[in-house]
Amino acid sequence: MIPYGKQDINQDDIDAVIQVLRSDFLTQGPVVPAFEEAVSTYCKVKYGIAVSNATAALHIACLALDVGQGDIVWTSPNTFVASANCALYCGASVDFVDIDSKTYNLSVDRLAEKLSIAKKGGILPKVVIPVHLCGQSCDMEAIHELSKVYGFKIIEDASHAIGGKYKNQPIGNCKFSDITVFSFHPVKIITSGEGGMALTNDEYLAKKLRLLRSHGISNSKVDMEERPTEEIWNYQQIELGYNYRMTDIQAALGLSQLQRLDEFVAKRNVIAKNYDELLKGLPLVTPWQDPNGMSSFHLYVIRLNLSQINKTQKEVYEEMRNQGVLVNLHYIPVYRQPYFEKMGFDKGYCKEAEKYFTEAMSIPIFAKLTNIQMGQTINAIKSLMINF
Ligand SMILES: *Cc1c(COP(=O)(O)O)cnc(C)c1O
Repeated sequence: MIPYGKQDINQDDIDAVIQVLRSDFLTQGPVVPAFEEAVSTYCKVKYGIAVSNATAALHIACLALDVGQGDIVWTSPNTFVASANCALYCGASVDFVDIDSKTYNLSVDRLAEKLSIAKKGGILPKVVIPVHLCGQSCDMEAIHELSKVYGFKIIEDASHAIGGKYKNQPIGNCKFSDITVFSFHPVKIITSGEGGMALTNDEYLAKKLRLLRSHGISNSKVDMEERPTEEIWNYQQIELGYNYRMTDIQAALGLSQLQRLDEFVAKRNVIAKNYDELLKGLPLVTPWQDPNGMSSFHLYVIRLNLSQINKTQKEVYEEMRNQGVLVNLHYIPVYRQPYFEKMGFDKGYCKEAEKYFTEAMSIPIFAKLTNIQMGQTINAIKSLMINF
C-alpha cells in the first residue's frame, strides 16, 4: 500500500526525542523555545509560538486579531475544515472566496470582487485566511494590497507550506500578513507528531499568542496587576486562554526534522518533476507552478480530464486504491460539509472549487517515496486510462 503522504524519521530524530525523555523537562523546558527560535530564523520572521497543532494556532491567531461575535472571516473553500472552524470557535461567522482555476488557491480576482460588494453592504471581513494549497503560496502581495484598501487582517494558513518560497523569500516571513500558521502533523512536510506554530513580526501579537497558548497566564511583572505585597502572586491569569502548549518531546522531534527540511522539500520537488514528465500525454492536468515561487509540494494534485476517460472520478479513485495506491482528495469544498450546509451554504456556491472537487486526485508524494512506488503509481494511472 502506498499512502499519499508519510513521515520520514531517522536515528537523529529518535535520539533527539530520547534525550528529552531522559532530561528534566518533558514540557515547558528549553527545547520548545529552541524549536521556535530555529523555525523563526529559518523563516526570517521575528517571533514563533509553538502550539499543540495548527488548528490551535489558527484559533489563537483569530483571537489575537480580536475576532469575535459579529465578525466575519473569509477563507478558501478548498482547504481542510480547520481553516474555517477557527472563526467559528471565536463566535464569528465564516464565508468563502472561490478559487483560481490554475493554482486552486483562493482567487485574488474573486476576493477583489467580493470585497467591493461587501463594502457596499457594509459587511467587510475582519480577517482573511489564504491557504497555501499543496505548498504553493497564494498571491500574498496582491492580497496584502487589498487588505490596505479594505482594512482586513491576514492569517496565512501555511499548514502545507513550510520550506516553500514566495518571491524568493521563505513562506512564513509574514511580509504580507499578520500571522502565519504551520502544521507539523505527520503527513505534512516536517513533523513533531502533532504540532503547529504561529509566526509573526508583531511584538504585541506574539505576546498575546503566548498568553492564549497557556491559559492566559503570565508571571511577568509588567503584565501583573498590583496586589497586596503580603500575598503570594507568582502568576496571574489576565486573559481567557487555553492549554495549547507543545511538549518538549514534540519540539525535539520538530527541531531535529527541521535540519532536513530543505532536503525533504528538494526530494518532493524532484518527485513532482518526475510525475510531470511521466504523466505527459495522459488525459489529466498536472499542477501548474508559479515561476516566481517554490512549492514545498505537500501534495501533488492531478485533475482528471473525465470527458476523455471512460470512468467517473470515483471509479478512478477506487480502482487506484484497489491497486494499492492510496490516492486521496484534497479537498471537498468546506461549505459542502453537512455542518456548513446547515449554516445555509448551498451546493454551487463556489463554482470553481466545486468543479475542482469533481476532478481532483492527490497521488502519493513524500520524501521517502521510492522510484518503484512512483512507477507503481504511474502504472496504476495508465492502466485505468487504457481506453483513452
Ligand atoms: C493539516 C491542516 C490543518 C490542521 O493542522 P493540524 O496540525 O492537524 O491541526 C489546517 N489547515 C490545513 C490547510 C491543513 O492542511
